[in-house]
Amino acid sequence: MAITGKILKVDLTTRSLDIVHLDKNLYKQYIGGAGLATRILYPLLEASMEPLSPGAPLVFMAGALAGTNAPNCGRHVICARSPLTGIWGESNSGGFWGAELKRAGLDGIFLTGKSETPCYLSILDEDVEIRDAGELWGKTTSKTEQVLKAQAGDDKTRVASIGPAGEHLVSYAAVINDEGRAAGRTGMGAVMGSKNLKAVAVRGTKKLQIADRGKFDTARKQLLEEIGRNFTNNMFKELGTAGYLDMAAITGDLSFKYFTQGTWDGSYDISGSSMSETILKKNKYCRQCTIGCGRIVEVEGGKYETPGQVDGPEYETLGSFGASILCNNLEGIAKANYLCNELGLDTISCGIAIAFAYYLQDKGMLSKKDAGGLELKWGDIDPALVLIKQIAYREGLGRILANGIVAAGKELGVPKDEIAAVNGMAVPFHEPRAYLGSALEYATSHRGACHQTAQYYLTSMGAPFDDVGIHCIDRFEEEGVAACVARLQDLRAVFQSLSMCNFIVPSTIDLVADLFEGATGIQMDAKSIMKCGTRIMTLHRLVNLNLGYETAEEKLPGILLEPLDGGTEGHVPNLERQLEDYYTFRDWDRRTGIPSREKIKDLDLEALGSVV
Ligand code: SF4
Repeated sequence: MAITGKILKVDLTTRSLDIVHLDKNLYKQYIGGAGLATRILYPLLEASMEPLSPGAPLVFMAGALAGTNAPNCGRHVICARSPLTGIWGESNSGGFWGAELKRAGLDGIFLTGKSETPCYLSILDEDVEIRDAGELWGKTTSKTEQVLKAQAGDDKTRVASIGPAGEHLVSYAAVINDEGRAAGRTGMGAVMGSKNLKAVAVRGTKKLQIADRGKFDTARKQLLEEIGRNFTNNMFKELGTAGYLDMAAITGDLSFKYFTQGTWDGSYDISGSSMSETILKKNKYCRQCTIGCGRIVEVEGGKYETPGQVDGPEYETLGSFGASILCNNLEGIAKANYLCNELGLDTISCGIAIAFAYYLQDKGMLSKKDAGGLELKWGDIDPALVLIKQIAYREGLGRILANGIVAAGKELGVPKDEIAAVNGMAVPFHEPRAYLGSALEYATSHRGACHQTAQYYLTSMGAPFDDVGIHCIDRFEEEGVAACVARLQDLRAVFQSLSMCNFIVPSTIDLVADLFEGATGIQMDAKSIMKCGTRIMTLHRLVNLNLGYETAEEKLPGILLEPLDGGTEGHVPNLERQLEDYYTFRDWDRRTGIPSREKIKDLDLEALGSVV
C-alpha cells in the first residue's frame, strides 16, 4: 500500500532503534504527514518540556501520497515544539526526501533523546544506523549533502541536514534537503541541533503498492490535466513564485521598508521577469511535479558571485531581503538566499530579523555601535550579508537577532506594536491590509504568522473550492471571511497530510479524496476528508493549549494596522470582528480558545493516548 504503517523510533541517548506499527484507523482519521505527526505528538508535548531539551520529541513524516506518482505530492513535514514560538512547530519541504523515506518502507521517524556526540541517521531500506558526524559538524548543508552522498556511493541518497545555524540553535534554523529545498519555518533545524543530529540520509528502493490502480490513475490523469490548464501553475512554471511579485506590489499584498510603505519603484527589478532576463538558468522540480516553480540561478563574477548554479530566491525571500530593506539588487538577494540555504536559515524569519534591525537603526533605536559598526542603510544589502553569517554563528548583533524578532525586540526595548510578528513568528509577505482575511489566518494559525496554513490571498484572488464551501471573497470584504479561513485551514491540513503542494487547485475535493482512496484503499470522499482536516486543526489547537497558548495573543501588531498608500487603498482589517465570527464557526470558546465538548466528541478527540 501507499502507506507503510511503519514509524522508525529512535532514541538518540540510548541509541536504540525500533519499528512502531500504526493502526490503519489512524490514517483514516489523520491521513498521514502533518495530521499523523500531530496525533503522534499530542500526548507527548507538555508546557514544562523545553523545545531544545533532550527529551523533546521530533517527528519527520512523509505524507500519504509521497512516494506514489500522484502529481505534486512529494513533500514531507518536520514537527516538534517550536523553539521560536513555544507552540506547535511545523515546517514542510518539497524535493525528493519524503518520497525516498516512503520507498525505504517508512511513513515517518520519531526521535527523542540527545546524542553525546554529533551524529547522523542513515537509512537504506531496512538497514538503519546512527553514525558519527564529527567530521560533518560545522559544515554547510550542501557540503554535508555532498559528503553523505559520496559516503553512500549513491547519488540517489536523499539528505535532510542542518547547517551551522542549527548547530548554534538559532531559533529559526531550517532543515535543508535536496540542495536548497527548505523546511524553513518554526526552527526545526535548532531542534535537530539540540539533539546533535546533523542529518538524516535516506535511500529507499521499494515500490509502493497502489490499492486501486484504476481509481488512482483516473484521478491522477484528471489532476495532471487541470494543473496543465491552470493559469497560476503556468505562471509559476515560467516565472517561479517570484512571478507573483509584480501583482503583489500592485495590489499591496507586498509591502515595503519593514511593512511601513505601500509602494516602491524598485519592485520590478526583483520580479520573476527580471530574474528570467538575468540570473535564471533553469527550473527546479520537486518529485512528480510538472510545474517546477523552483529556480536555479547563477551570479557570474562580481561581489555577489555564487559558486556555480544554486537555488534561486522564492517570492518570500525577495520580500524579506528585497522589499523589506528596499534592495533592488537581484544578485545581492540571490547571494543572501544562497547564504541562508548554506548556513541553514529560514529566509523569511532571517530576512525580517535583519529588516527589523534596519528599521530600528533608522528610528534611532539601534546605534551603529550596537550594530557592531554596521551602517544599515535602506537599499544596501551588504550589511545584511554580514548579518546572515553573524546570526548563523550567534556573533555580534546576530547573537540577539538569532532569537527571532520577538525576543530581540524585548531585549532591545522595542514596543510590541513595532514587532512584525504574530504568536512569536515574523509575518510573511502577504499583507493583511491587502487581503483582510489574511489577518485572521495569521492570528489563528497553529504555528504563528503563516500564509501557508490557509493561503487566503490565493483563494480571494480566484482559487475557490466551491464544492466544500470555500468561495472567493472580495479582498476588502470581511463578511464570510471566518468560515472561508477556517475551511481553508482544514483543507490545507489535508494537503499537508497528503504531502500535496499548496499551489495545486483541484476542481473538486472529491478528486483529492479519490487519489487518497485509490492509493491507500481507505474509503474517503470530500466530506470525510474535510472532516479529517477539521480534526487535525482542532487537535493543533489542543496541542497549543497544552503548551500555554493564549487567545489574547491572537492580534496583529500596530505596525500592520497603519493604513498604507498604494494598492491596499488605506484598508485595515477589523480582526476582532473576524475572530468573533471564527470562534462561533469553529465552536471554540472565544475567551479560553477551548473547543466545545460536542466538537471534541464528534471529532473523536477524547482521551488520546500515545501511539508510539
Ligand atoms: S509547484 Fe513548486 S513547490 Fe510545488 S511541487 Fe512543484 S516545484 Fe515543488
